[in-house]
Amino acid sequence: MKILVTGGLGFIGSAVVRRLIAQTPHEVVVLDALTYAALPEAVAACADSGRYTLERGDIRDPERVRAVFERHAPDLVMHLAAESHVDRSIDGPGEFIQTNIVGTFNLLQAARAHRERLSGEARARFRFHHISTDEVFGSLSLDEPAFTEETRYDPRSPYSASKAASDHLVRAWGETFGLPVVLSNCSNNYGPWQYPEKLIPVIIAKGRDRQPLPVYGKGENIRDWLHVEDHAEALILIATKGRLGESYNVGGGAERTNLQVVKAICDALDARFPQAAPHADLISFVADRPGHDFRYAIDFSRIERELGWRPKRSFEQGLPDTVNWYLDNEAWWRGLLERTGGAQRLGLSAGG
Ligand code: NAD
Repeated sequence: MKILVTGGLGFIGSAVVRRLIAQTPHEVVVLDALTYAALPEAVAACADSGRYTLERGDIRDPERVRAVFERHAPDLVMHLAAESHVDRSIDGPGEFIQTNIVGTFNLLQAARAHRERLSGEARARFRFHHISTDEVFGSLSLDEPAFTEETRYDPRSPYSASKAASDHLVRAWGETFGLPVVLSNCSNNYGPWQYPEKLIPVIIAKGRDRQPLPVYGKGENIRDWLHVEDHAEALILIATKGRLGESYNVGGGAERTNLQVVKAICDALDARFPQAAPHADLISFVADRPGHDFRYAIDFSRIERELGWRPKRSFEQGLPDTVNWYLDNEAWWRGLLERTGGAQRLGLSAGG
């Protein structure tokens, strides 16, 4: 089988690609624009397999997308390419509209045209898996039940609104044009190879530089955390075995306040640098993000029931492992920050 993975150089996409190459016989074609968020080093080992091809291309460009479908004739599309950082969507929403909405539209149109050209078994086999976020469901209070696949959409940030729009487009192409689609909505991911602008790696990086550790508001906002390797496993199951027309919620069963997460990172840093002053002394509460959703929680019973998936890694183990991974790969993330202007933006020291 040939699988087209859009955004395959990103944090989650690269975990999917590594897993596909290591654990399946499939061929993988990555379509990625190599934005600041691309992590080519995360898939470097895949090149030796002879089953991995990179197509540098922008999903905002319909001709480029069409050409990739024509050249590679994929059996399955796993669509992860997106602008993914909420804070960036507040500073500059335009790119989120273009990539997340128009880019998804371009992919759906190209997939439709591609499927029209197929016949027999190849046509029957073709599937399109759209990867999305739990943020489309909006914000929960403490006593509300977790999001299910039936929860009403209520996006509140430019990022989540653009992802919600893309989910609606995918469902519409399934209903209206008979495109064989499946969707998934996942909670916050963490683990190796995440660009250091999201909460966990940014706190590790700042802690390493002994800088103030910024926590929004009072740190009371709650997220559910899932290890990226568990997500990648779920995604491959959904893409290949999920029921067409359905969506699957994917979560870690690990709701934590932001302050709990930051304190756990501090504990792991203290364990590696026992001589240093406690890292929790560096915690600094900053003005809250506008429209900051209070709580996300995921009911993942459908994927558990239908596909037998549940997260394998506990947050208690996965978080310190992640901290240690970043400490062992400091040259990589400092180089990445330097190359992409992130060091200056986040006030971190650059260089390897
Ligand atoms: P990421 O920002 O780490 O990576 C995105 C990748 O897409 C990068 O390699 C980038 O170069 C590529 N890309 C961006 N714009 C592009 C364009 N116009 N054309 C082609 N490629 C482009 O994102 P991620 O964290 O790996 O997230 C992947 C997907 O999973 C996204 O759709 C996101 O909404 C979703 N998701 C993420 C999380 C999370 O916690 N990170 C949780 C749930 C869902």
